[in-house]
Amino acid sequence: MIVCGGHPGDPEYGCGGTIARYTDLGHDVAILYMNRGEKHCPAGPDDPGATVRVAEARRACEILKARPLFAPQCDAHAIVDNSHYDEFRRILEDAKPDVVFTHWPIDEHRDHTALSLLVHDSWMKMGHKFVLYYYEVGEDTLMFAPTDYVDISAVEPRRRAACYAHASQTPDRFYPKQALISGFRGAASGFAHAEAFVRHIRSAGGLLPG
Ligand SMILES: [Zn+2]
Repeated sequence: MIVCGGHPGDPEYGCGGTIARYTDLGHDVAILYMNRGEKHCPAGPDDPGATVRVAEARRACEILKARPLFAPQCDAHAIVDNSHYDEFRRILEDAKPDVVFTHWPIDEHRDHTALSLLVHDSWMKMGHKFVLYYYEVGEDTLMFAPTDYVDISAVEPRRRAACYAHASQTPDRFYPKQALISGFRGAASGFAHAEAFVRHIRSAGGLLPG
């Protein structure tokens, strides 16, 4: 399975508990970051944002036992056009995931919205070949009405550690909001902490950790 994120950190905040649940069950999980958190576009090899943030992403993946992948876009410069639709779809075609998670399209960060469109287009062009779920992240996601929940109570400390691996991104500011969200989603589904998802109405389901 693949969890796509607009930036290093997004998959960990929105799906970190579910990723840990999957990898504990022995599943192969890749985290596909749309960019490397660059400060400049295009970024040189010494771009401090890219250097620091790639290392943080690799550390977060180690904590969750996932594999990092990076799409060749730039932070805050997401492009959605025919060639980038095709470029992104080829990444998913090569990876052959059975399940893909991405940002919900109504989101206050344009990179998140762009990624959501890229994944959705790939899903359609690939004939609905993978199960498609949307996730929520922090203060950016709006109008999100979940269809599915995953109990992350037992792995919440690992989600927290993976989020805090992104030390350059002020986790003390952002993590409490995500913990509030997973507590709220847990209250709605009978768990201490849960991550919530919207399954595309035309997607198959049933592949979340039970
Ligand atoms: Zn982001």
